[in-house]
Amino acid sequence: MPVAANVSAAEIARFDELASRWWDPDGESRPLHDLNPVRLDYIAQRVPLRGARVADVGCGGGLLSEALAKAGAQVTGIDLGERVIDIARLHLHESALTVDYRRQSSAELAQAEPAAFDVVCCMELIEHVPDPAALVVDLAAMLKPGGRLFMSTLNRTPAAFGAAILGAEYLLRLLPRGTHHYAQFLKPSELARLLRHAGLEPDDVSGLGYDPLRRKAWQSRVTAVNYLLCARKPA
Ligand code: SAH
Repeated sequence: MPVAANVSAAEIARFDELASRWWDPDGESRPLHDLNPVRLDYIAQRVPLRGARVADVGCGGGLLSEALAKAGAQVTGIDLGERVIDIARLHLHESALTVDYRRQSSAELAQAEPAAFDVVCCMELIEHVPDPAALVVDLAAMLKPGGRLFMSTLNRTPAAFGAAILGAEYLLRLLPRGTHHYAQFLKPSELARLLRHAGLEPDDVSGLGYDPLRRKAWQSRVTAVNYLLCARKPA
């Protein structure tokens, strides 16, 4: 593992444990499978993806990376989990898509390719890193001037505690216990502040609704649990 990276080894191990079942729509990544089309739509509604250079930071087994590649983007997916990156690469044999997967930290990609990406996506990662502000600085550095950043994470509200921790980890057992830590959830205003500090201009926050029993997900005005956020790097 790269030294001095903004990473919790326990978090990486937790996701690596799930790697072999990542593409099983009924496995532990089931919520990500269910949310994925809505996340893709949110991005595709705001930026042209065909031919765009896109970084997917904390890509896991590659659900969003592949969806972006399928939409015509030239995707680089990075994650620090060795097994999740192996699974992401293996799955390309099945999908016959092309994604440049790398086991790399956000800081390393930002240093290797500054101002190189039209679009940067960072979904369901920021609540798992020790230093969210440093992650946002890396994401901003990767973007071309005029580029767009898309993030999703969990709000720090009682509703999010109830849905994402009590509901998903304890009652429905959709996710392994310990997947999420309430104190690491960020309110949209807090995330927007981190983005502005990194020189970005937040331009939308939308709720990401999810009914795990009916396996339905949708964009909504309710940001109390999961939300999507978009920001622009000034041209
Ligand atoms: N973005 C994907 C996966 C989300 S799960 C999706 O939404 O479909 C969170 C992922 O973040 C896991 O794959 C985990 O290995 C990765 N991760 C956790 N901490 C990380 C860090 N500090 N740097 C890079 N990846 C990290």
